[in-house]
Amino acid sequence: MHLLPFLTTVLPFMASLSSATPVELATRQTTSKVAVGAVINSCVVPGTIALTFDDGPWDYTHTLLDTLAEYNAVATFFLNGINKGSITSYPDILQRAVAEGHQLGSHTWSHPYLETLDHAAILSQMTLLEDEFVQILGYFPSYMRVPYLSSNDAILAAMAELGYRVIGASIDTKDYENDDAGLIWKSFEKFRLELDAGGSIVLSHDTHFYTVETLVDNMLQEIRSRGLKAVTVAGVSEIQATGTALRDRRGWSRLNEEHKVRVAPRSFKHGKWVFYN
Ligand SMILES: [Zn+2]
Repeated sequence: MHLLPFLTTVLPFMASLSSATPVELATRQTTSKVAVGAVINSCVVPGTIALTFDDGPWDYTHTLLDTLAEYNAVATFFLNGINKGSITSYPDILQRAVAEGHQLGSHTWSHPYLETLDHAAILSQMTLLEDEFVQILGYFPSYMRVPYLSSNDAILAAMAELGYRVIGASIDTKDYENDDAGLIWKSFEKFRLELDAGGSIVLSHDTHFYTVETLVDNMLQEIRSRGLKAVTVAGVSEIQATGTALRDRRGWSRLNEEHKVRVAPRSFKHGKWVFYN
């Protein structure tokens, strides 16, 4: 219903942008051996678990990064261009997350139901966000998660065309239903039960206060007490596909040859940036 104004106002803008973005697969390849256009729902490497956070960046993401750092854990963030916040407002979050070893993936530009869009609009949802990634980091992801986990063959074919690995989930905390001090334990219990059932890719959202305030800390304590290792989805998928970890963690991303921007390695610690070398 609200698609009509979206299509008429945004599509001409998208069309002009997409002509500036190379979409040929040849320009999008990485050294990765992980198949494109197929959904990955679990880590098969024993003892690993992948925490993933969708819908950011948002005001709470820095706090989440602090908590992950306390546990020496890495995670994967599936980011939007425009959702609760705008990606252009948070370049420091993207740069900090990469500097601290986390993986950044795409969750589309504006989080639509992709099955309501035609092929060109699906591609634009990805390439618009790629342009912002390139502006902020100099490269863009090769992993994505479909909004609402709502996918079909046409969407997966479009992702294969663009060279994206598609990540699902095998533990869904449904944290958006429990964003309350008195309810968030329900998401933690769901996490524990689905972990017991063999789940290993965990879906939650850094846009919800009690996820960042309570759930993440509890999940990380549980992960530690079970002797599991928190990894990025690319980290574990690459091990799964090749038998070894990628040496260069940028294997999960692609350089855009038209925009070679170098980002100095740095980390955000104790309220300020620390630059390496
Ligand atoms: Zn989402």
